[in-house]
This record gives sequence, structure tokens and C-alpha cells, in this order.
Amino acid sequence: MTQVQTTQAEQQRMIGGGVAESEFYPVMDRLPTGVLLHREGIILYANPVMLFILGLERQADCLHKPLLSYFQPESWKRIEQAVEAMGAEEVGGIPGEIAVLRADDKEATLETITSLVQLTGGAVFCTVAQDISQRKQNEERIRHQANYDSLTGLPNRMLFMDRLQREIVRATRQQKRVALMFIDLDRFKWVNDTLGHAAGDDLLREVSNRLQSSLRKSDTVARMGGDEFTAILPDMERGPHAERVASGVLGQLVTPFILCGQEVMISGSIGIAIFPDDAASMEELLRNADIAMYRAKSAGRNGYRFFTPDMHAEAQQRMELESDLHYVLERKELVIHYQPIVDLQSRMVVGAECLLRWIHPKRGFISPALFIPMAEEIGLISQITEWTIRTACAQAARWRQMPGCATFFVSVNLSCTRCRDLSVGEKIEAIFQDTGLPANGLVLEITENILSEDANRALQMLNQLVQRGVALWLDDFGTGHSSLSVLKRLPVSGIKIDRSFVPSALSDPETIVLVEAILSLARSLNREVIGEGIEAEAQAEFLLTRSCRFGQGYLFLKPEPAELLTAVLGKALR
Ligand code: C2E
Ligand code: MG
Ligand code: MG
Repeated sequence: MTQVQTTQAEQQRMIGGGVAESEFYPVMDRLPTGVLLHREGIILYANPVMLFILGLERQADCLHKPLLSYFQPESWKRIEQAVEAMGAEEVGGIPGEIAVLRADDKEATLETITSLVQLTGGAVFCTVAQDISQRKQNEERIRHQANYDSLTGLPNRMLFMDRLQREIVRATRQQKRVALMFIDLDRFKWVNDTLGHAAGDDLLREVSNRLQSSLRKSDTVARMGGDEFTAILPDMERGPHAERVASGVLGQLVTPFILCGQEVMISGSIGIAIFPDDAASMEELLRNADIAMYRAKSAGRNGYRFFTPDMHAEAQQRMELESDLHYVLERKELVIHYQPIVDLQSRMVVGAECLLRWIHPKRGFISPALFIPMAEEIGLISQITEWTIRTACAQAARWRQMPGCATFFVSVNLSCTRCRDLSVGEKIEAIFQDTGLPANGLVLEITENILSEDANRALQMLNQLVQRGVALWLDDFGTGHSSLSVLKRLPVSGIKIDRSFVPSALSDPETIVLVEAILSLARSLNREVIGEGIEAEAQAEFLLTRSCRFGQGYLFLKPEPAELLTAVLGKALR
């Protein structure tokens, strides 16, 4: 720019009040910036630099042609308007930025200064120009990098926020609505872990294409980071239409993806909040869509939820609970309840399942079904499991001292997320050392979900445990999808028939067939079977006659504190 200004100053000095064209042109010919003289929109002269900028070889190529054969009308119009505003006599130094279509059809951007100069032949406009296309492109590239996600090309969080703010202002002004959709992929981590990051990247790109194709052009789809996407849907209200859009997006996500040559199934969880119905500000709208998404996820994934006010209160409570959970061990608020596992024939207690209870100082008893998933999510499960195993092993070692209890064992539930930690075996070994409990005093209960993420690593860890002499049982058997094939792969010595089968086993003929099939399968694979949730004598009888050896349930005893169990050890529970 400085260069252009100097040139223009020089030019003003040189041409003074009426310079002869014959003197003027040779000077312009040598200037290092582009110079174009024109009158009434017709080109009268272009210096060599200008010819170069316009992609021309000879002066004759542009002489007497309209200015607008090169200058884009819109950008030139702004300069014309400035000229008019100044009054033709005084025009000097009007700065501008002109978009140019070169002779070779390439586009360029010029930074210009336009002045009126007096030549002997009359007044002409002189536009001094510098090609700033490269700088423009750089600026554009930087702007793009700052606003778009480099992997998917979608707007990033920054641009998304900007657009959302704008849509909210627009909706407020026009008294319309704008819906915000939070979309989170359900099995992305699994893809990344098992198929690798390149496959994960491919998946994200394909998801981004599918999201864009299932929404309107006027909607903004953005990637917030990781596997989190958002969509801004202007003029969308709660109701059948929004529901159709959400179902459409879910439908796109459950259609199989081809990654590394194999078909991969994923799904998504969607939360939707609507301005101004659900939120008065952008921050609130974001938070509420997130809460609704979280709800969709915990309701079993592959679903959508619209935000409702009660979700907020619940999320608040959850957050408080989550932060309290961090101190649960330190404040000694966890207790283990033990539920006897009995020999169905003799009714003697052979072992006990350890079931955690959180005694919250304000909220009282909190179910493991609520806080265990929370602990998994916030990364506390390892510490909690270690504490549980240690406490239970110490207790079992004491119980083993009691008459007739030399083979007593405790079974501890192991979280799936814990099963990729290869140090578990060593930690358990140390616990055996410290408590004096031999390895056959501990059983670990796992579920088939263990194989849903990084199966190889999980199997490696489980085999290590078995080598150390720890028995594994497959819990909640019969509730999953792939139980039979899973049973063959997992190094388990026992299976626990899920409690949902046992009470109905006697009334529902189909369940009877299923339970019988599980028992005969277990027999042929040489696995022990433990019937869970036995509440009635007839159920115990049914299982026993089909050679199920062990049982557990309210019929014998509910999960109770250790002291209560001590009282029944060595006795038959009838
Ligand atoms: P689970 O391992 O399948 O545990 C059995 C559940 O069935 C327990 O629920 C137990 O109280 C209940 N139950 C036992 N007998 C009967 C019966 O006769 N009738 C009925 N209706 N229910 C019966 P609880 O204690 O609420 O535990 C729920 C789940 O929480 C457990 O299911 C387990 O998956 C998880 N959990 C508990 N403690 C731990 C732990 O220390 N670590 C991990 N990872 N998970 C745990
Ligand atoms: Mg269990
Ligand atoms: Mg179970």
C-alpha cells in the first residue's frame, strides 16, 4: 500500500496541472506498479505492470475497451460512488479494492488508488494498482483454518458459536425459533481402538457427509471436536417435523459404514434444545442440548431427546453426585454388602457376591446401578474396584478361619472398562500377598460387554488372571446378544443365569426351554452354573433338578453387611 501511495504522490507531482501525454506515458511505462488511465469507463492506457496484472501481452489488447471487461462491476461501483460523492473536479486518492477477471479468466484482487489527472488532452482517471491476490489467498486460508475443521471441512467450534449467536439474534428479531442439535457418536472409541485412527478419521469424514446430506442447506453442521457434532436448525420448532429430522439423522448413522474393507455399525445419540422455548441465552441453549444428548445416551443410545426442564434439575443432581463420588473412598462412604452363594443341594453358603453400596451423607443409600457407571465415566472405577477387591479379600481371609469355611470365596464384579488395564493381575497378586487369601478365594464376575471394545486386550488381561488362579464367571448370562459365541471365547469357569430369567422360569414355557438350554450348554462346555435372583423355593428346586449347582437370591439372603453374613456362615440356609 505504501508503495502505491508513493507512486501516486510522485505521479501528482509529475503531472502537475496538465502534462502532455507524450511526457506522461514514458514515465508511467517505467513505474513498478500498475497504472491504468480511463475516461468514462473506457481504457486509454495501461502500463506494462498493469498489462501483466490483467494477463495481457500488448497495450492494444485493452485499448478502448470498457473498464468493466476486467474490473468486476460491484467492486468498481463503490469507487465510482466515491468519485461522485467528491465531485469530479477534486477527485484524488480514492482507495479501493477491486476484484478483477483477468484475460486468462483467472481472478485477482487489486488494491487501488484512483485520482483524476489533468493531461493536455483533458482530464482522465488514473487508477494505480497493486496485485494483492496472494495476500488475499493467504488471509483466506488462515481464516479457513481458524474457522473450519481440517479433517471434515465442517465449521469448527469457533465458527459454530459465531453462527449460533447470529441465528439467535435473528430468531429474536423475527420472533422465530432456532433448534440446536447435539450429536454424539456411540461407538467411535471402539472404532478408533480396534480399527485404528485412520479408520476413525474416515468414519468422521463419512459421518460429516451424511449429516450434511440429511439436513437443509440453510442448517449449519459443525464438528465440536472428537466425535461430537452439532447442527443449528433455523426456524425449527418442537414437533413432528423436528422429530423426523432427528430420526433421519439417526437413520443415516445406523446405515453401516465400510471401514478397512469391513462393515462397521455405529449409532448416535442426539439432544435437541430450542431457542427461545428451552433457553434464554446461547450458553443456556448449549448446555440444555448437551443435557438432552446425555439423556439420550443414558437411555440406551441410538435415540434422540428433546430438552425438558426436569432434565436440568436431574443433571444438576448428577453433577453434584459426580463431584461427591470423587471423595467416596477418602470419606469412607462405600460399604460392601455380601450376598451368599449357596450350594443348592446342601443349602450351605459356599461364597458371597460383593455388592457395593454408597451411603451418601445427604441422599442416603445410592444404588450401584447408578454410581458404578458414573465411576466408570469419570475414571474412578479402577480405584473403587481395587478397594473392593482388597476389602473383600481381607474379609474372605477372616471368614476362611471359621469352622467349615476353608474354601469360602468372594466374587467381585469387574467393570468392562477395567479390563484393558493389564496391571490388574499384578495388583490382585499384591492383594493376595497382603491379605493372605489364596487365589482360589476370589472370583471375578465379568459381562460379555467386555468384548465390545478392544477384545484382544481384554482377553489378554483375563487370561493373565486365570493363570494366576483367579476364577472368572460370566455375569448376567442370557441378556446379551452373542452369548453363545462369547462363552466359547472367554476363559470363564462359571456362568450366572441372569436374574430376569429365574423368577419367570416356572411360568413361561419359552423361558423354561431357554434356561434348560443354557444349563445343558454349560454342562457340555464344562462350566459351573449359578442361578441368580432365586426368590422362591420352587425356583431353587427347578434349577437343582436341571443340575444347576449354585444359587443366589432373596430366598436365601439379601445382600447384607459382613457381620450379618458371619452369622450364617457354616449353616444351611433353608
Ligand atoms: P449383578 O452383579 O448382576 O448383581 C446382582 C444384583 O441382583 C444385585 O443388585 C442384587 O442385589 C440383586 N439380587 C440378588 N438377589 C436377588 C433376588 O432374589 N431378586 C432380585 N430382584 N434381585 C436380586 P445390586 O446390588 O443393586 O447391584 C446391581 C448391579 O450393580 C450388579 O449386578 C453389578 O453389575 C453392579 N455392581 C454392584 N457392585 C459392584 C462392584 O463392586 N463393581 C462393579 N463393577 N459393579 C458392581
Ligand atoms: Mg454380579
Ligand atoms: Mg448378575
